[in-house]
Amino acid sequence: MSVKIYALGGYNEVGRNMTCVEVENEAVILDMGVYMDRFVPLQDEIKQCSTKTLINEDVIPDDRPIHHLKKKMKGIVLSHAHLDHIGAVSWMSSFYDCPIITTPYTNRILQLKEENDGIKLTNKLISISPNSSYKLSDKIEIEFILATHSVIQSSMTNVITPKGNILYSLDYKFDNHPVIGQTTNKQRLRQLGKEHTLALIVDSTNAEKENKTYSESVAKEMLRDVILGMETDGQGMFVSTFSSHIARLKTIMDVSNNLGREVIFLGRSLFEYINAAEQLDFVNFSDTAEMIKSPYRCKKRLEEINKNKEKYLVVATGSQGEPNATLSKIINEDIPLHLNANDFVIFACGVIPTPMIQANRRMLEHKIHHKKGRIFKDIHVSGHASREDIRDLIKIVSPEHIIPGHGDMGKLASVATLSTDMGYTLGKNVHLLQNGQHVRL
Ligand SMILES: [Zn+2]
Repeated sequence: MSVKIYALGGYNEVGRNMTCVEVENEAVILDMGVYMDRFVPLQDEIKQCSTKTLINEDVIPDDRPIHHLKKKMKGIVLSHAHLDHIGAVSWMSSFYDCPIITTPYTNRILQLKEENDGIKLTNKLISISPNSSYKLSDKIEIEFILATHSVIQSSMTNVITPKGNILYSLDYKFDNHPVIGQTTNKQRLRQLGKEHTLALIVDSTNAEKENKTYSESVAKEMLRDVILGMETDGQGMFVSTFSSHIARLKTIMDVSNNLGREVIFLGRSLFEYINAAEQLDFVNFSDTAEMIKSPYRCKKRLEEINKNKEKYLVVATGSQGEPNATLSKIINEDIPLHLNANDFVIFACGVIPTPMIQANRRMLEHKIHHKKGRIFKDIHVSGHASREDIRDLIKIVSPEHIIPGHGDMGKLASVATLSTDMGYTLGKNVHLLQNGQHVRL
C-alpha cells in the first residue's frame, strides 16, 4: 500500500492552500483556499466568475492533477476558517461527491460564505469538535487536534491511515497564554511522536524568522501601551485588524473599556465573524459594543459619531489596505466618518506578504500621512509558527517525512534547511513540492 501526497495550492505562495492525500483506493482533500493577493482585486465581480476563470487568474488552486481521483474522494477537510483555507470551497467542492468536515466555527463561517457568494454547496456539512476524530472511510480517519493560531477552533488535521499518521499542520503556533481558548494540544502531539507519523506537512510562513512566535497576550500588552498610554484626548481612534481575529478584537474591547470609549465595529466581515463567535458563545461583544454592518446604510449614525469622536473607538475592516473596505472609505471620505489631523490609526495586524496586498497597504498609509493621521503599525504578533516553533513540532512529532507548505520556495527551503540540520535528508525524507506536483511515500 502506498500513500501519495499532492501539492495543489500554497506550495508556490502564501495562501491558496490545498493538499490531497491518496491512500490506495481512497482520497481526502485538505483545505480549499483562495490566494488573497488575487482574490481581493476580483472580490466585487467574483460572483460572476466561473471556476475555470478563477483557476486561470490564480485565485483558487488548480485541482486538475487530482481529477482522476474524483470517484475515490471521501471528504474535504477544512482546518480553520481563514479564507486562504476555505475561500475556494464555493467554486470547487461540488465537483467532488463527498462531505465537508470542519469544526463548528468553520462550519458557521462556511454557511455565511454560502449566502454571500450566492452559491449553494451540494456537499453535506459535517462538524466535529477540536480534539475529536471522525471515521471517513475504510482506510481514512480524520482527527482535529486543537492548535493556537489567530481564529477560533483552528486545528491541525491528522489523517490516520493504515500506513501511519499524516499530520497537516498548516497554520499553528505554540501560544502558551492564549487570550481565547486553550493551548495547542501538545499532549496529543507527544502521543503522535510515539505512534508512527509517516509525514508532517508543516507551516513555513515564518520559517525564516529565527525566533519563537510570541503569545497573543503580548499583542494585548502592546495594544494597552498604545491605546492607554498615549495622548489621545479628544482625538479620533481608528483600529483595524483581521476581522476573523476574535481574540484580538476581544483585547480591543477590553482596552477600550478601560479608556472609557464605546467600541463601534464597522464593516461586513467584522459583523459576520463576530456574529458567528457570539452564536457559539465564545464572546459577547454586542452587549456593550455597536455593530454597523454597512456604513452606507447608517450615514446618520456615522455623522453623529464623527461629531463626537472622543467618545468612541472605531474598529474598521480593511487592515490590509483593501480599496473597498471601510478603513479606505473613511480615509477617502466616501462615508460621513472622516480622519482628521492627529487622529490615531492603529494597525493591530501584520501585512500579508504578497505583492498586491503590500502595495495596497502602502498606498493607504500614504493617504493617512497626507491627512496627518498618527500611524501605529504592526501592533501585532503573528499566528504562524517561527523557525524554533517548527523545530519543536518536528522534535515532538518525529515524523518519517517532512513536506513544507504555506509559502514560496524561499520559505519552503528554509524549513528544508532546518530539517537537514535535524538529521533529515532533502530528496529522501524532506520533499520540496511545487503546486501540481506529488510525492509517493
Ligand atoms: Zn490561518
